[in-house]
Order: sequence, then structure tokens, then C-alpha cells
Amino acid sequence: MLGILGGTFNPIHNGHLYLAERLQQALSFDAVRFMPAAIPALKDAPSVSAEQRADMVKLAIINHPTFQIDIRELDRSGPSYTIESLVSLRKELGDKESICWLIGSDAFAKLNKWHRWNELLNYCHFVVVERPHSEHLNWNAEVASLLESHHTRDIHKIKNSANGKILIQEIEALDISSTQIREHIASKKDVDNLMPSNVVNYIHEYHLYE
Ligand code: ATP
Ligand code: MG
Repeated sequence: MLGILGGTFNPIHNGHLYLAERLQQALSFDAVRFMPAAIPALKDAPSVSAEQRADMVKLAIINHPTFQIDIRELDRSGPSYTIESLVSLRKELGDKESICWLIGSDAFAKLNKWHRWNELLNYCHFVVVERPHSEHLNWNAEVASLLESHHTRDIHKIKNSANGKILIQEIEALDISSTQIREHIASKKDVDNLMPSNVVNYIHEYHLYE
């Protein structure tokens, strides 16, 4: 059973790592793969290249034997559509393996904006974590209806099937965002407690976000 955390990782931070650690504990993933988006479909172009964002992910997980980086979106041209990554992951892993797409409630709330969003659950489960300040109660009608028809509270259903369920996992999330980190660095505020120290060093070395 595999967990996948997709994101822009501009930059990766302790909130991402904590989410992956807690969900790995709760669901016993064999591994969690971090999948940086090369060209996010729904955001402005990131200020830092996909290669450098991936470098920071590699540094952040370096001491974590069961955390991996998946760079398949860096090898494609055009917007990084999750559905295309899932199709290619399925080819790699076969139809039986449980694949869980890990996601914060802020991102899940906009799922109906994703390319071919209605097909995503044919390839994976979603494990949703409530993020501080996210207005999770304001799911729009399409996301609410998807949740209603696929929701489960039973972790075994997620473990014993390959795809098709949505689990809301009640863990606390850290109140950290990449946006906040970029703003802190631009205004010369300390970010040492928000990211692993090797990532902080990389950011300073390449003068990112200044
Ligand atoms: P930005 O502020 O640039 O949007 P971000 O901190 O939201 O960055 P992303 O790369 O956009 O990070 O997020 C990737 C995934 O990780 C999303 O599903 C998002 O909801 C989730 N996530 C990000 N930060 C946290 C956090 N502190 N706790 C839980 N989940 C998070
Ligand atoms: Mg975000």
C-alpha cells in the first residue's frame, strides 16, 4: 500500500513531512512518495524551477527510509495533471495495489477543478486531512456529492481495495504553508523551525525566495 503526496513543494516544509509521517503511522503505508508538480495546472508558474523544488524534497526526506521522491511529472511537458500520473502509476504497480492520494482539505475542496476529476477515484483512494484555516464545511456541491458517494470511515476498506474510497483522517495538521515561508524569507524573518535545516541551507545557498 502506497501513499502519494502531490504538491508544488515551493518549498517543502514540516507541514508536508508531518502529514506524511502521521498518515504513514495511521495507515501503515509501505512507502510514501512525494510527487512534485512540474507545471501546476491551477497555480501561477512557481518562482523556483521544478528541479530545485525536487532537490529540496530529496534533501527533506534523506533520512527517511520509507519516504521516496517520484519525479514522473518532471519528465512530462505541459500542465502536470494528476490523472496522467495516476494512469502511469497504475501501469507500474498493477491493478491490485492500494494507492492513497494524500491531500489537505484546502486542495480537496477544489478537486472538481482538476483535469478529468471524475476519473481520479478509478485509480486511487483519497485520504483527506483537515488543514488549519481551511473552510472544509464549504465543500462545493460537486465535491460534496463525490464525498457522499465514496466516503468511508473504515481503514480496512482502504487497505483491502485498490481505489475508489475517500477517508477523512482526523489528525492535527501543522499550521505551516509554503506561501508563509516565501513571505517570511522575502521579509528576512526566521524560517528555521518550519523546514528541515538542510532545506533551509539550500534556500540560502541559492538565494531562493529573496
Ligand atoms: P502554497 O502555500 O504555495 O499553496 P502549500 O503549503 O499549500 O503551498 P502545497 O505544495 O500546495 O503546499 O501542498 C501540497 C499538498 O500538501 C496539498 O494537498 C496541501 O493541502 C497539503 N499540505 C500543505 N501544507 C500542509 C500542512 N501544513 N498540513 C497538512 N497538509 C498540508
Ligand atoms: Mg497549497
